[in-house]
Amino acid sequence: MSMNKAWRTTWTAGAAGAVFVMALALLAVDAPAFAQHHGRTEAQTKNFPWMNKNLSPDERADLVMEQMTLDEKIDLLHGNGWEGRPNPNAYLSNGGAGFTLGIPRLGIPTIQMSDAAYGVRGSAENGRYSTALPSDLAAAASWDPHAACEYGALIGTELRAQGYNMTLGGGVDLARELRNGRTFEYMGEDPILAGTMVGNRIKCEEAQHVIGDTKHYAMNDQESGRTEMNAIITDRGMRESDLLAFQLGIEIGQPGAVMCAYNGVNGDYSCENKYLLTDVLRKDWHFKGFVVSDWGGTHSTVKASEAGLDMEQPGDLFYGEKFKRAVQSGKISMAALDEHVHRILRTEFATGIIDYPRETFVVNVDHGFHVSKQIAEQSMVLLRNENGALPLDASKLHSIAVIGDHADFGVLSGGGSAQVAAEGGFTPKWLEHVWFPTSPLKAIKKHAPNAQVEFNSGQDPSAAAALAKDADIAIVFVNQWESEGMDLPNLSLPDHQDALVEAVATANPNTIVVLETGTAVLMPWIDKVRGVLEAWYPGNRGGPAIANVLFGEVNPSAKLPITFPLTEADQPPPQIVAPPPGHRNDQMLKAPIFDVKYTAGFDVGYKWYDAEHKPVLFPFGYGLSYTTFSYSDLHVDPSGTSVSFTLKNTGSRAGEEVAEVYAGLPSGTGEPPKRLVGWSKVPLNAGESKEVTMKIDPLYLKIYDPASDSWKLVPGSYTFMAGGSSRSLPLTQTVTLQ
Ligand code: BGC
Repeated sequence: MSMNKAWRTTWTAGAAGAVFVMALALLAVDAPAFAQHHGRTEAQTKNFPWMNKNLSPDERADLVMEQMTLDEKIDLLHGNGWEGRPNPNAYLSNGGAGFTLGIPRLGIPTIQMSDAAYGVRGSAENGRYSTALPSDLAAAASWDPHAACEYGALIGTELRAQGYNMTLGGGVDLARELRNGRTFEYMGEDPILAGTMVGNRIKCEEAQHVIGDTKHYAMNDQESGRTEMNAIITDRGMRESDLLAFQLGIEIGQPGAVMCAYNGVNGDYSCENKYLLTDVLRKDWHFKGFVVSDWGGTHSTVKASEAGLDMEQPGDLFYGEKFKRAVQSGKISMAALDEHVHRILRTEFATGIIDYPRETFVVNVDHGFHVSKQIAEQSMVLLRNENGALPLDASKLHSIAVIGDHADFGVLSGGGSAQVAAEGGFTPKWLEHVWFPTSPLKAIKKHAPNAQVEFNSGQDPSAAAALAKDADIAIVFVNQWESEGMDLPNLSLPDHQDALVEAVATANPNTIVVLETGTAVLMPWIDKVRGVLEAWYPGNRGGPAIANVLFGEVNPSAKLPITFPLTEADQPPPQIVAPPPGHRNDQMLKAPIFDVKYTAGFDVGYKWYDAEHKPVLFPFGYGLSYTTFSYSDLHVDPSGTSVSFTLKNTGSRAGEEVAEVYAGLPSGTGEPPKRLVGWSKVPLNAGESKEVTMKIDPLYLKIYDPASDSWKLVPGSYTFMAGGSSRSLPLTQTVTLQ
């Protein structure tokens, strides 16, 4: 069946099945009240005393503040309107999701913000280009902090190239609800893995002199009713799960900004939640940057200010005139205003956006391709490989059937505010499906020049099966599209793709499935296929990266950052909690209106499946290689701070193994059977052995004690386990810790 390009690049959400599409946070109440600022150009670079780099960011901020008027201070606290809506300062925008006016007379630049989850958003519409990296979840599957760093550095560089000095990336809410439409934007279900990966991403992104950001703080774990939803969870449940991911990400990455979430937590909206913004973020974690609201996530002036919100985006509904009047009437003290302003200014100095003024340059396209492909290759998880079906040996293949999912054209990407435009493509519409033009079919043909390689769209399963029947091998590409603004109705492949795989595998048992998904999927056909490769949303070099893994030019080394459950009903909860009928998305709401109870608390993902003794399809931390590894000789230091063991490559080719260490805490702590406490990605030649030693951060063995508001080591027996996945841990040793 022939397809036109529009169909390849544009599907409506409806075509993906019964997705739960929600209203965007477009708020009628956000009428522009902005003062117009004539003649504001970019920052002047005079020799102001605060330009002295020998002073600390705090000293420099204080010097600027001595010169600032009340209006200039208020200007720093808010954005200047929704993109595409009229406002008098729109001409000062760089085309991103938001901007905050600078103070040119004092050399303070405009903060130009762009979404940048897996690449800089809005490039096509601004006549620019940016690299589309694999999804954030894919990057997490590499379990490689260096890859996360490269990921961040590339995005930081391209943000600057396009004239931005602040990113809105760095999502790290945990995948406790696998049907969350933004799972692809986050870094999986484990707080230590997710926090480490996002921290390294932020660190390297911010090193390019852009203000780093992490989001959505906190518990934004589903999209359904996200602006009215109230997450109910205990302090301990939160501190040992989502908040721990933020804590580590902030400690490692030192982002300049934290974006508070749309939803509420335990009764208060995140952007006016004192527990989150002050007690935890500033007092416990010593965060020195500023808190920016999600777009339309501000609900008050005085309450938000007291709770610790520093900047409203993208408008000035509460942090413009209303804020000024609150200061003038004494409802908000000048000291409180100064604190907000100080945090924003000190961040501008600390991240270098003042010392390294904005400039634009041409993006290095080839470098972007290179990084994108490398990370894609490191992040694809080989889930099944029966009888060594993979890697494919081109010299033995005469015919290959390539089927489904636009594999002739390109690879799928995640939508919403994360969406990166395809190269040479148009600005995608909201909830449009976008395939990047990087054809797996072409790449497969390159690897097998002597084989007859034929394509079938998969629209008609019987035609696809007929093609597969006569081929040496069938490779079926299937997808699951995700976006901000919706959740998946379930984890089944949409659009009858299960039937497609069944039909092809029945016609030819030599079938390999390539998944392009944003989260886990169910695989009712798993026993009928020889191989399964999870390619996620692999970015704009996905085609060659997939082919390199299939043909063994790259030996897969990634591991799952989320659990793949066996059935829908196995998940906690079996169905996503939807908002009540007639719900409304309104900034004027004083409190969230429906509860989602996270009774599993810190038992997110594998911790919950372990605690419930549930079998799973593929466990957290799982992934195959074209070689095999063995683990022996575990030694745990009596202090529990270091673990070592021998890892051997027992196969016949070089490979890398993500070696994982888990700990079971003493019974009576209420903890699940195990938690991840360390890992190392180890390259080994065929037959080579290495002693692997890992430091265990003492925090990772502790529990959060709400009574004393501190982390505590509970004296007792700790069982350390080492191996290749959360459910394959051949080595164990128990030590007593006091
Ligand atoms: C999203 C944020 C995003 C912002 C600006 C919001 O709808 O939740 O993640 O940064 O829009 O585009």
